[in-house]
Amino acid sequence: MKATTAIVIGAGIGGITTAAHLAQHGVHVTVLEKNQRPGGRCDRFSKDGYHFDTGPTLFVMPHIYEAEFASLGASVDDLLDLQRVDPTYRLVFDDGGQLALTSDLKIMYEQLEAIEPDSFDGFLRYLTEGSSPLPAGDGTACRVRFPYRI
Ligand SMILES: Cc1cc2nc3c(=O)[nH]c(=O)nc-3n(C[C@H](O)[C@H](O)[C@H](O)COP(=O)(O)OP(=O)(O)OC[C@H]3O[C@@H](n4cnc5c(N)ncnc54)[C@H](O)[C@@H]3O)c2cc1C
Repeated sequence: MKATTAIVIGAGIGGITTAAHLAQHGVHVTVLEKNQRPGGRCDRFSKDGYHFDTGPTLFVMPHIYEAEFASLGASVDDLLDLQRVDPTYRLVFDDGGQLALTSDLKIMYEQLEAIEPDSFDGFLRYLTEGSSPLPAGDGTACRVRFPYRI
């Protein structure tokens, strides 16, 4: 029987994930990428000894990556050497003031209240909203699906 084939255009995270799922289901996949290397917006370049992310810096929604790896029979923990970076980054303002984004709420409290009294409550509200499930079009919590048929 002739194997099912597929062409995936683009080797960003989306294309690579799609290709991996298709291949797992026995499809012969060809990934076409216009750049020199895979990754898409997940890339970086170096200049004068400094390294710059061209896109993502934050590993957001790790549970989605964990679920994708697991559904492909792999483990994020086994394959990636993830290292926590804290503070994640440091903002430097025109007046020389700084804000270091850290998961240490006490330090965030001290920094934010020094910049603007009572602003820490707003930061907590922001965190609460950010940790809520994304609303999907049908009003239910957003879930990741790969609804391809083979
Ligand atoms: C500045 C910036 C900061 C970001 N920060 C974060 C972050 O901190 N955390 C986070 O989780 N996400 C972040 N994102 C979002 C994240 O980068 C994207 O959601 C993700 O990389 C998108 O992956 P993708 O595969 O959908 O698309 P892309 O990465 O855009 O991949 C598409 C691929 O298709 C290729 N392609 C396009 N057209 C063709 C063609 N005709 N033929 C062949 N190849 C083609 C492109 O070259 C590219 O490699 C950021 C994005 C940007 C731009």
